[in-house]
Amino acid sequence: MSNKEQTMQQLIAMSHWLGEESRGFAILGEGNTSGKIGDDSFYVKASGAQLSNISERGIVEVSFSKVLDMLDGPALTDAEIKARLKAATLNNDGGPAPSIETLFHAYLLSLPGVNFIGHTHPISVNSITCSSGWKQFTSGRLFPDEIVCCGIAPVYIDYTDPGVTLARTIKESVESYVKQYGERPKSVLMQNHGLIAVGGTVSEVQSITAMWDKTAKVLAGTFQFGGPNYMTAEAVDRIYTRPDELDRKKLIEGLNRE
Ligand SMILES: [Zn+2]
Repeated sequence: MSNKEQTMQQLIAMSHWLGEESRGFAILGEGNTSGKIGDDSFYVKASGAQLSNISERGIVEVSFSKVLDMLDGPALTDAEIKARLKAATLNNDGGPAPSIETLFHAYLLSLPGVNFIGHTHPISVNSITCSSGWKQFTSGRLFPDEIVCCGIAPVYIDYTDPGVTLARTIKESVESYVKQYGERPKSVLMQNHGLIAVGGTVSEVQSITAMWDKTAKVLAGTFQFGGPNYMTAEAVDRIYTRPDELDRKKLIEGLNRE
């Protein structure tokens, strides 16, 4: 199997896993996924496709440079965005249009070490992002595996119009995250919208999403017993830098499988 075919098969399997309705991460046409083919192009879910039953027909190949150019230029109307996204597709004569959220996929996939993106609207996570205390209550870490899987902190995005504006906001926020923490983020929380898992591998994207789901449920549960008791900064730092935890992090990222 070529690298391209392999990326397609991995992306389909990851999409089915994230879209499995019983997990509560996405229903109907919610969410979208992408996988990097190489420096020039990537695969992304087509507009209207459903994660749970997506096939090759629901996935389009898109040019990195043509999509990334849209992030730097002047503001674009909805019609212009649609036309330019369609024009950015490759090997897609008469095929479906890429998702409007393709823009942030292009940016996140261009970060070093990132190969797959899974964007979902989990019930558990959106119970938080749709609440007034969403930033405050996710500002601390609750347990070690949360840090190992999801990173030391998420990137926070206040509600933003989907499309170019959202992608530009994500780009700026990720750049300041990298300045603050010295590494790329694993997760992005979007107010009144959902979660983006940023992974080197399919298993990393799935682990981040599953662990955010668990974290959100644990956080909700803490309010039955007096509210969250966050780990101390010292304990968080210790988990984040411990060698055995680093090995586990590598495992999660699938880097030990070669
Ligand atoms: Zn979305």
